[in-house]
Amino acid sequence: MRYSALALLRGALTGQRSWSPVWRSPEPRRSYDALVVGGGGHGLATAYYLAKNHGIGNVAVLERGWLGGGNTGRNTTIVRSNYLYPESARLYDFSLRLYEGLARELNFNIMLSQRGLVVLAHSRHDLDAIARWANAMHMNGIDVQILDRAQVAAHAPLLEMSPRARFPVLGGFLQRRAGTARHDAVAWGYARAADALGVDIIQNCEVTGFVKNAAGHIAGVDTTRGRIACERIGIAAAGHSSVLARLAGFSLPVTSYALQAMVTEPVKPALDVVLLSPGTGAYVSQSDKGEMVLGAGLDLFPSYAQRGSFAVTQNVIAATLAILPAFSRLRLLRQWAGIVDVVHDSSPIIGPTPVPGLYINCGWGTGGFKGIPVGGWTLAHALATGRSHELAEPFQLERFVSGRLIDEAAAAGIAH
Ligand SMILES: Cc1cc2nc3c(=O)[nH]c(=O)nc-3n(C[C@H](O)[C@H](O)[C@H](O)COP(=O)(O)OP(=O)(O)OC[C@H]3O[C@@H](n4cnc5c(N)ncnc54)[C@H](O)[C@@H]3O)c2cc1C
Repeated sequence: MRYSALALLRGALTGQRSWSPVWRSPEPRRSYDALVVGGGGHGLATAYYLAKNHGIGNVAVLERGWLGGGNTGRNTTIVRSNYLYPESARLYDFSLRLYEGLARELNFNIMLSQRGLVVLAHSRHDLDAIARWANAMHMNGIDVQILDRAQVAAHAPLLEMSPRARFPVLGGFLQRRAGTARHDAVAWGYARAADALGVDIIQNCEVTGFVKNAAGHIAGVDTTRGRIACERIGIAAAGHSSVLARLAGFSLPVTSYALQAMVTEPVKPALDVVLLSPGTGAYVSQSDKGEMVLGAGLDLFPSYAQRGSFAVTQNVIAATLAILPAFSRLRLLRQWAGIVDVVHDSSPIIGPTPVPGLYINCGWGTGGFKGIPVGGWTLAHALATGRSHELAEPFQLERFVSGRLIDEAAAAGIAH
């Protein structure tokens, strides 16, 4: 069924009985041409691009909970491509470009809002780091504009701009094409489009083991709903990637941490850019409902508890108030966390694993929502062809052996 203004009108005139379920809930078959473990954005996008780009529709996505119930439905929805290294810039900008056409392609409103992202400089050192970062973006062909103090103030009048402020704002840069997208809609849009191309989406189906043949090639999975045979399997399980890798008999250079976020009560439109303050670690945007969406750094101890500790919640709030003191009058509405898969060099891992036929897409850490389209595109390519996509070539697991790391966080000179 195509969503359109006409479909809305038909629904209104027929007591909303014209709508069909957005995806089917089939029983798992005994075998598939390809399997994807994890029904977050990356897993669903992988299944969609397998069917769409490679004509492989006999695919199942196995999700142990509900679609998007992992980090995809828990993130702060920021999309951007302001990376320092050419490899990262290419990867993330390809993703942003796919996002730009995604609502039309999936026929699902993902509410992409390219309101712009302003990165703030609070010190002379930050100004230098930001100039280097912005120049690198420029060289990588990514849109960027360096801002002086007055220009930052014009973009975000709410900021505490006083030179006596604890974190005075001295300038920044703007990526105009960055912004936000509705996280659930990205998962649901891919799920609906994949389902329409024949993909089976199977929720409440946890993968509990991997089956290999005598030659050590992947041959299937054991799940809470029985064994499923398959010789091409992709893992897209974010914070649980190491758990699945262990089940398959190899280890990953991934540490799982809680990353938390929170929203205030809704207020009238007051902030129409995304603000990121590397100096304080805080970032903030205003949701379409009016809530201020706040986030900051990791709860830096390994954990699988999707809660986040109170001390870090306090730090996030303190960091936000240091640059936006007016927010001290707002009440906090909700706080939550997701388990993110952090890699030493803050770059994703996409490609083959030591088990033939088994591929992985993980390590996106705190920033993989923006990478969903390209993560799905490149994992689908690896599953369909057995070769890495050229965009994913530098991001293989093998880089931890060769030492060709792409250390974005360290290179920028300021955390982001
Ligand atoms: C608080 C927070 C804020 C963030 N903010 C941003 C942001 O602003 N911008 C950005 O780009 N990124 C952000 N991120 C990161 C981003 O959310 C993730 O990188 C991205 O969503 C990962 O998507 P995914 O599909 O790989 O993982 P997930 O959405 O976590 O999906 C993985 C799925 O695998 C399933 N699974 C796990 N084990 C099994 C198993 N054994 N069998 C079957 N299924 C299994 C899980 O249930 C889960 O649904 C944020 C993350 C958090 C937590």
